[in-house]
Amino acid sequence: MRDSVDRANNLAQSEIDSLVAKRKVYTGKSALYCCQCSDPIPQARRDAIPGVSLCVDCQQEEEQRARHGL
Ligand SMILES: [Zn+2]
Repeated sequence: MRDSVDRANNLAQSEIDSLVAKRKVYTGKSALYCCQCSDPIPQARRDAIPGVSLCVDCQQEEEQRARHGL
């Protein structure tokens, strides 16, 4: 009984580990997916802006927010 619970916990932990590992890839140089809305970021945009982590929509939102000093 206890064994199966431990095994379930180990399984959950390895799932979390792989999710964290995936997220690290997204926050690398140029993200494959927007870190705000998870939309795919087009290759052209990723090439044009090294280190980009937001899609066009979220980037514009972010810039507007910055302009208003929030
Ligand atoms: Zn986005």
